[in-house]
Amino acid sequence: MLSAALAKPRPVYPGRCGLALLWLWLAGGLALAAAKATGVLWVVWPLWWWLIGLAAAVTIGVRFAQTGVFARPLLRVSAAKGRLALTFDDGPHPRHTRQILDLLDACGQRATFFVVGDKVAHYPEVAREIVARGHGIANHSLRHQPWTPMLPARMLATELVTANTLIFRHTGVKPTFFRAPVGLISPPVAAAALRAGLQLVHWSGTARDGLAWAQPQACLERLRKATVAGAILVLHDGVGVDDCIAVRILPQLLADMAALGLQSVRLDELVAAPTEQPARAESPFPA
Ligand SMILES: [Zn+2]
Repeated sequence: MLSAALAKPRPVYPGRCGLALLWLWLAGGLALAAAKATGVLWVVWPLWWWLIGLAAAVTIGVRFAQTGVFARPLLRVSAAKGRLALTFDDGPHPRHTRQILDLLDACGQRATFFVVGDKVAHYPEVAREIVARGHGIANHSLRHQPWTPMLPARMLATELVTANTLIFRHTGVKPTFFRAPVGLISPPVAAAALRAGLQLVHWSGTARDGLAWAQPQACLERLRKATVAGAILVLHDGVGVDDCIAVRILPQLLADMAALGLQSVRLDELVAAPTEQPARAESPFPA
């Protein structure tokens, strides 16, 4: 069973610096609100404090996760030689996931799918197919609600365990990796992952193909810059109705990887055996 081969979760303690900032922000906002209510301070509007702080927390949590302010997620495996990990978020999707599986299998590449618990319950046969075809499956929350990273750690941990149970029930695999919805890492997310025994994963390169205004060529160019050994790249198979950017750009990305001699492996394989040099992969797609 694949679960036996999965890497042991590495603890990801919430960064003390991030927690201190969070408490400062909460206390400052309360102090401003109290000052406003009592008439001591009437110029500064406390709402701005909350909004600016929230925007800063989201920016740090998503775009600057590598700073480790809120937590130390897995971003890349720097010792990997000739290997990287393609990952796909937000599935399983009844059509796109299978299209991506076909593209990967045609090139002999493996990937990891960060699935949403509720979607696994809706499309269990697709989730089973991911595993049956040799790819990895990981936890991407129970419902993928945008406010999930803001939930208290205890509540979020319960959701993560429920999602893991659902995934295990339908696939026989118990995930050990977790990526937060929207990639938003917050102190509660880090604490919840630790509590649920999951290794928190972010990325070293993202296509940003899940955004409503995403353009395929721009997504591909973004990934090309990050396509190096040890990278953890993220695309999305669970977004879009008729069109899926990941399906459109994956052939060229796989061709680029073949030209660079890079092999995509499951995340647990990248973490567990990072130093082997694989044979150069041949791609059926033109470079
Ligand atoms: Zn997502």
